[in-house]
Amino acid sequence: MIDYKKDFPVFQNENTVFLDSAASTQKPKCVLDTLYQMYASSYANVHRGSCTLANRATERYEQARLTVASFIHAPAKQIIFTKGATESINLVASGYAKRLKKGDEVLVSVAAHHANFVPWQQACLESGATFKTFQILPSGEADTADFERQLSSHTKMVALTHISNVSGVENNICDLTKKAHAAGAEVLVDGAQSVAHQAVDVSALNCDYFAFSGHKLYGPTGIGVLYGKEAALKALPPYQFGGDMIQEVSIEKTTFADLPNKFEAGTPPFVQAVGLAAAVDYVNQIGMTQIAQREKELTQLLIRQLQEIENITFIGTDLSLKKGIVSFVIQGIHPADIAFLLAQQHICVRVGHHCAMPIHKYFHQSVSVRVSLGVYNDAHDIDLFITALHKAIRLFK
Ligand SMILES: *Cc1c(COP(=O)(O)O)cnc(C)c1O
Repeated sequence: MIDYKKDFPVFQNENTVFLDSAASTQKPKCVLDTLYQMYASSYANVHRGSCTLANRATERYEQARLTVASFIHAPAKQIIFTKGATESINLVASGYAKRLKKGDEVLVSVAAHHANFVPWQQACLESGATFKTFQILPSGEADTADFERQLSSHTKMVALTHISNVSGVENNICDLTKKAHAAGAEVLVDGAQSVAHQAVDVSALNCDYFAFSGHKLYGPTGIGVLYGKEAALKALPPYQFGGDMIQEVSIEKTTFADLPNKFEAGTPPFVQAVGLAAAVDYVNQIGMTQIAQREKELTQLLIRQLQEIENITFIGTDLSLKKGIVSFVIQGIHPADIAFLLAQQHICVRVGHHCAMPIHKYFHQSVSVRVSLGVYNDAHDIDLFITALHKAIRLFK
């Protein structure tokens, strides 16, 4: 296996087995260098300056938009930079809060991250629309029969998760989107856990909106992306108001800028956007197909060894469906104790409800231990984790 750890300074500085990339990824040196270069030699506010520095910053910001656009196969003006997946979803949901009426419905999976659950629940509360959920199967897949039962001609929005941040299961977005469109609803896909792990083509998915964060894709914090179909974005009201999002302002009225500026009020996180583009260049250089294949092999290695542990229960029982994310509980040992004992052995995993309480409730758990992979993980990391886990379990026997 190729060693990608050498690209990430953290692994030279810290003796750690990092298995929490679903929460946030480490940063390669090329991203860190880009951030430094931006602040050191291309920094002035974008879109308004007349000096060389401002022009350079603006060029690199708009180049970043092109890079991100081609990464997910979208036109650049349909790429809105936000501060993260959460803000991308809130941007759409707040527009919906103004548009929804009593009698309208929004349909969300019980497996959704709170970021793609709570904004819709609130939009329904504000507008008087009905918030509905559809079930999943024990395997972790969407329960398509229940999805079809809940979907109706009143459904205006279906909010889907591309890959669950708890079960690691990918949803069949094309199929669910086709059904949602047939019912007359728009579809938002939360891609926070997919973009870093496999090739994504939003035009093939045919969703109306696609949201993700930079920091889970080896990029900086404070930068996210919202893709939208042109007609969908044009029909959506602005999210925030201020500078840069206007065409003309007078005392009588304000007209708004065209896409994408209409949704980018104020000074955007342009340094972070350029950092994200450097991260996209990094994964493109390796190849998304290669990354997907490598993580698939590692996930299988991880699962084979976890399966041998007594009294282990997985969140999402079909282990063949998991993509780089495995959540589990071991009967008789609190997940927090496992995480603590692993941390003492320099293994970083996640414990908690992972911002997805309804899916834990579905599996009759309150919290779980989550192991998640990034491009820098290798078979040795899995070995160290499994050895440390067995050591932790022995302490409870
Ligand atoms: C992390 C995550 C989010 C939220 O991302 P932020 O970067 O915290 O805004 C949304 N959905 C899923 C599936 C996630 O894993």
